[in-house]
Amino acid sequence: MSRIVGIDLGTTNCCVAVVDGDRPRVIPNKHGYNTTPSVLAIQEDGTRVVGQIAVRQAITNPHHTVYGIKRLMGRPFDSEEVEHARAHCSFEIIAGPSGDARIRLHDKEHSVAELSAMFLQEMRVVAEDFTHDRVDRAVVTVPAYFNDNQRQAVRDAGRVAGLDVVRILNEPTAAALAYGFGQATARTLAVYDLGGGTFDISIVYIDEEGEFHVVATTGDSYLGGEDFDERLMDFVIAAFHRDHGVDLREHPVSLTRVRQAVQKAKADLSSVTSVDINLPFIVSNPSTGPLNLDYTITREQLESITADLVTRTLQICEVGLRYAEMQPEQVDEVVLVGGMTRMPAIQRAVEDYFGRPPCKGVHPDEVVALGAAILAHAIETESEDVALHDVTAHSLGIMTAGGGFDALIPANTPVPTKVQEIFRTSRDGQTVVKIVVLQGESDKAADCAALGRFALAGLRAAGAGQVEVQVTFSIDDDGIFSVGAKDLETGEEKVIDVLASSGLTDEEVDRMMADSTEYFAYRRAQESPETNEDECLQLIARLHALLPEAEKKMAWTPVGANAVENARKAVQLVEGRLEGSTPETQAKHIALLSRVEVMLEKAMSKAGS
Ligand code: AMP
Repeated sequence: MSRIVGIDLGTTNCCVAVVDGDRPRVIPNKHGYNTTPSVLAIQEDGTRVVGQIAVRQAITNPHHTVYGIKRLMGRPFDSEEVEHARAHCSFEIIAGPSGDARIRLHDKEHSVAELSAMFLQEMRVVAEDFTHDRVDRAVVTVPAYFNDNQRQAVRDAGRVAGLDVVRILNEPTAAALAYGFGQATARTLAVYDLGGGTFDISIVYIDEEGEFHVVATTGDSYLGGEDFDERLMDFVIAAFHRDHGVDLREHPVSLTRVRQAVQKAKADLSSVTSVDINLPFIVSNPSTGPLNLDYTITREQLESITADLVTRTLQICEVGLRYAEMQPEQVDEVVLVGGMTRMPAIQRAVEDYFGRPPCKGVHPDEVVALGAAILAHAIETESEDVALHDVTAHSLGIMTAGGGFDALIPANTPVPTKVQEIFRTSRDGQTVVKIVVLQGESDKAADCAALGRFALAGLRAAGAGQVEVQVTFSIDDDGIFSVGAKDLETGEEKVIDVLASSGLTDEEVDRMMADSTEYFAYRRAQESPETNEDECLQLIARLHALLPEAEKKMAWTPVGANAVENARKAVQLVEGRLEGSTPETQAKHIALLSRVEVMLEKAMSKAGS
């Protein structure tokens, strides 16, 4: 049986962990680092570069280097957040066919889920190299404040990466789990999680049995370290404009250098009180020739230009505590998560607010992945040691006549849950009710995320308000959300699982998964060419074993027959050319056969369902 790993898919860094023996441990990447930057670049020839190397080449390849894309996940192109990102990012963000945000790299359009899948895949490689085992299942963490569309985007990214996302776990809940697992002392934790792109606060009660109860959670999925970076960039760019009359925002290469320099300066200012940002030949001005950028930034300056961001996190803590019906002093321990919590101003602010110093001994970059690994291990071993009781971060409800939002399940309701409400027709002669399912905290439907829509038809034609429809919302233990509508006169009922949308169709996800499998197989084959011939033979054998069953199951449908035919041709082609072939040709064969295999399995599972 393959391993289940825990993956923290962060805005700035990704981290993978696994339980090794009886303790969770982070797996270092091949460069020896425990985290991998969530940065990727696509080169002219289609080669992708992920992590440290992508960071290094960003200066020379700014338009095709992607970073911070978690902030775009599951968001419509016309949202405020995407507009903000378009103004600040060096890569091109465009509208996708279903109104989602996509990224154009070398004339090819990529969905956010597809690019995120490349990070997940990288984590998969790191885990497989360590475990020497196949890794195709993972617990993946997300900010607690992600809505269902954003969560679906993560699931889609998992599918594209060839990973079955067995559970989506909220990041602060994962951190609480890693911090408090195995200690059966009743207490309440506040998990303050400020990462690269998002902020969450969760209040978690651990009972005397060691069970975890999330009491309240809230946050802002567009508030994080990148906002601090932008403030510092604005500061430096304004100073340079004032001193030299040149706007660095018009020079993408210079801008990338400034971005990297301010990120480093910000981190350094957590341990020293002033830093120099020195970038020789940052830009060349026709009248003055090459110009250097040279400024000293103090910790005090950084704190002053970002003070309102820190205050905003505390205001969100206030909301979280209000949901929990608690005062700050009732919290027993404060756990800091996310790289940004190394900033002294944040540590001070949190200490002042909760009236106690934060707990020591938590690694802010690794604790989330460790928590995910603990849950992954419990799922893998079917252990009941991990008991987690979470809440919904957002209100769920329906659109009312006039474009309002009626929340049936308010934010911070413990799951699983089931709620029923009776609605009456709003027009004379109305025989159909249309249910639009929404998620959000506004009383205006337009400000909430639309999760799905369906209709209950065949109602008795009567005066407005005379026919009653019972609407049921339920969320099960796995977080699967379903909605039902029942005509109370006839008993006619319609129930749907509300599958949130990342903006991708099923076919798109399948195609991306095939592309990524092919790429992944090719890369691995290039890394260990000595086993390529064997690998080809194994793939051929597996396909020979699969083909008769595939034919039986699917040959009667045009799509199925096509998939079978393609697989057969691919096997014949490779069989005919294998003898005497070079490891490079064999790597290409492996890529092709891996793609064929995954597409055949996909088509068979669809035919069987
Ligand atoms: P995470 O998403 O948890 O990996 O957090 C990454 C964020 O933490 C990025 O915005 C980093 O710039 C920031 N960060 C990392 N180290 C430090 C540090 N020493 N001081 C301040 N911020 C940091």
